[in-house]
Amino acid sequence: MTHSPHAITGRFAPSPTGALHTGSLAAAVGSWLSARSAGGRWLLRIDDLDAPRQVAGMSDDILRTLECFGLLWDGDITWQSRHRDAYAQAFERLNRQGLIYPCGCSRKEIAQAASAPHPEDDAIPYPESCRDGMRPGGAIRSWRVRVADEETCFDDLRRGYVCQNLAMGCGDFVLRRGDGEFAYQLAVVVDDALTGVTQVVRGDDLLSSTPRQIYLQRLLGLPQPAYCHLPLVTGPGGSKLSKRDNLVSHHLGNWNGREGELLLEVLRFLGQAPQHGLTGASCGEILQWGVSHFDATRIPIMGGALHIS
Ligand code: GLU
Repeated sequence: MTHSPHAITGRFAPSPTGALHTGSLAAAVGSWLSARSAGGRWLLRIDDLDAPRQVAGMSDDILRTLECFGLLWDGDITWQSRHRDAYAQAFERLNRQGLIYPCGCSRKEIAQAASAPHPEDDAIPYPESCRDGMRPGGAIRSWRVRVADEETCFDDLRRGYVCQNLAMGCGDFVLRRGDGEFAYQLAVVVDDALTGVTQVVRGDDLLSSTPRQIYLQRLLGLPQPAYCHLPLVTGPGGSKLSKRDNLVSHHLGNWNGREGELLLEVLRFLGQAPQHGLTGASCGEILQWGVSHFDATRIPIMGGALHIS
C-alpha cells in the first residue's frame, strides 16, 4: 500500500525505561486506532536517549508486547540513539539564530531534561540566571533555548484550545545536557518531522510539553502535527501509575491468552463501545472492529482506573 505524503501518519514512542503498563498500552491503542481508522500509517519509535534510566531488554519486551496485542507498526523502527546527527543539526540551526545559551544551573534540572517530563517538573520556570552569561569559571551543565514572552496555543482534539506562555510556564528550557546528550523536547520534534508524523496521540502527562514542542517546530520551520492527549490510567485511589503498577509485559507473560480481554477494557477506557459479541475474540478481531468503529470524539475528558481482573 502506498501513502501520499498527506496521508495520516501516527506513532507510538515508548521509552525503554520499564515494561509497558496499562496506561502506555492505552496510548498505543489510541494512537494505533486513530491512525488505522483513517487509513493511515503507524510508526514505532524507541526513545532511547536517556541511557542511565534504561533497563536492559526493555525495548525488546515492549516490541514483543505490542506484537502480542496485534499492534503492528509500519516500516523500520526509529531509534533515537541513532539520530544524534539530526538533533545536532537542529541544535546548530537554533544556535546560529542566537537562541541557545550555556547554563551552569542545578544538576537536577538537567537530569530531567533528557526524559519525558511530567507536569510537576514545570512548576517553577527557569529563573533565567544564565540568560545573559554564566558565572565566570562555572561548568556548563546544559544549553537552553530562549523562549518568547507570548502565548503558544494549539487545538487538542480532546482537550480543546490549549495555551501556555512559555516564559511564565517553564522559562528557557534545556535542549542539551552538559554531557552532550540531547533533550527529549528537541529529539521528539526533529523525529516527528523526519518520519513524517502528522498526528501525535499520547497520554495527558505530555500535554504540558506540547507548547514547547510547537515553539521548537516554529523556530525550525517544521510542520505541526495534530495533537490528541488521551486520559491517564490511574492506580489505586486515583494515584499516578508507577513503573511497577499494572504491567503488561511480554516477559512476565501475565496476559497470556487474555490479551483480548484487556484490549476490550482499553477500548472502553477510551470511550468506545465494543459490541458484546467481541467477548472472547482475538486481538486481531477486536482491533479490526476498532478500525471500523473508532470515534475520537467519544474519548472521555476524565481518566481513571482501568478495571482488569
Ligand atoms: N517517550 C516518551 C514517553 O515514554 C513519549 C514521547 C512522546 O509521545 O512524545 O513518555
